[in-house]
Amino acid sequence: MNLVKDISGEAARQGQRIYLVGGVVRDMLLGYPSLDLDLVVEGDAVTLAKRVAEMRQAKLLLHRRFGTAKLRYENFTLDLATARKETYAKPGALPTVAPGTVEDDLFRRDFSINAMAISLAAKDYGELIDPYHGESDLKHGLVRILHPKSFTDDATRILRAIRYEQRFGFELEPQTAKLLKRDILLLDTISGDRIRHELELIFREERPELSINRLAELGVLQRINPALKGNGWIAETFKKARRLKSTTQLTSIYFCLFIYSLSQRDLEHFIVRLNTSAKLSQAMRDTLRLKKSFPFLDNPSLKPSEVYYLLSEYEPVALQANLIACDSSVIRRHLQLFLTKLRYVKTSLHGEDLKRLGVPAGPKMGNILQILHKAKLDGEVSTKADESRLALCLLADQKGRGGRRRQSASKNAPPR
Ligand code: ATP
Ligand code: MG
Repeated sequence: MNLVKDISGEAARQGQRIYLVGGVVRDMLLGYPSLDLDLVVEGDAVTLAKRVAEMRQAKLLLHRRFGTAKLRYENFTLDLATARKETYAKPGALPTVAPGTVEDDLFRRDFSINAMAISLAAKDYGELIDPYHGESDLKHGLVRILHPKSFTDDATRILRAIRYEQRFGFELEPQTAKLLKRDILLLDTISGDRIRHELELIFREERPELSINRLAELGVLQRINPALKGNGWIAETFKKARRLKSTTQLTSIYFCLFIYSLSQRDLEHFIVRLNTSAKLSQAMRDTLRLKKSFPFLDNPSLKPSEVYYLLSEYEPVALQANLIACDSSVIRRHLQLFLTKLRYVKTSLHGEDLKRLGVPAGPKMGNILQILHKAKLDGEVSTKADESRLALCLLADQKGRGGRRRQSASKNAPPR
């Protein structure tokens, strides 16, 4: 609040008016905390942000072309934008931008509940600016677009509408619902990156399965890829994914579960359509490849080393997704064993140690290290001393065999 007051004071000195806008206003009215502060300046956000960054020694990131600035101060970030007017040349195109008033800036927004501002100027500090009746829509639980061409201008708003509807347990205002259904086709005008970004935002929600199922019900998912589904299975597996202990990769796991019922071919279309990163594409491909190898894994008498060799080539995210999705308790046990233990198993002896024991560098050493690793996986050796003993045995054995091979080779050699 102190930082906001400083900015407001500096804006007044520069003769600019400043407002809090968007999600933070909506969340304040709903009584939810919000740490994302978006400010709009009638004038020039860049000049203002530069001055504030100097005063407060805050970090500053400027986008002069868009007239926006990001201020980082302690652990807060604050976005400052120059109020602007937008027009769309054609559906899905990036908008043409010109400076404008706060009302213009609110009019370019997606829904009435996101199109409110609060003045931060001294003379009307705290006054709500609500030209599209967002406060009333919040009270009645409605997601409403601001004009009939809204989804045509930008069809990502279709995904956004459902995200807010499901996050807050709201409904689509009837005319909005009608236009949303009419404009589903226009998702084809949106780039893969933008669609993927909106899906990622959905996957960051507390319960993304609600949005996924609703998008399926409306036929939106099918427009992105005809094989995509939302159903009880998605809901169940998404819930299980959230219960996993390590959740740093949760978004990727959701993606892998989302494509779980697709054929390889449909997945390739999905990857191209959404322009997914190499890493995520690999995780999704591995998910389907691993699912195909279930017949080999569904064997209770596999040794740990066999489990290791079957699973070591897959992205961990794909293993986790399959752990959630798989019905077989045998396979789940193998996956769990690999993820929690086997993948971390390392031999205590390394190349240098083997050299000291008299193993020459080269393929022989590689071979011995591999056998040691296998023995460790299967619990046949546990200490460094065990490994040394085994290594010496193997070395002696290989020398013996090498000697025998040379002998027998000379015996069978044709006479010169
Ligand atoms: P939250 O971050 O809680 O989902 P938010 O309202 O902060 O909600 P952001 O995605 O951070 O949402 O966007 C900030 C604001 O920018 C929104 O409140 C909305 O007014 C506007 N906005 C974002 N995307 C669009 C869009 N595609 N069309 C119109 N306005 C948009
Ligand atoms: Mg936000």
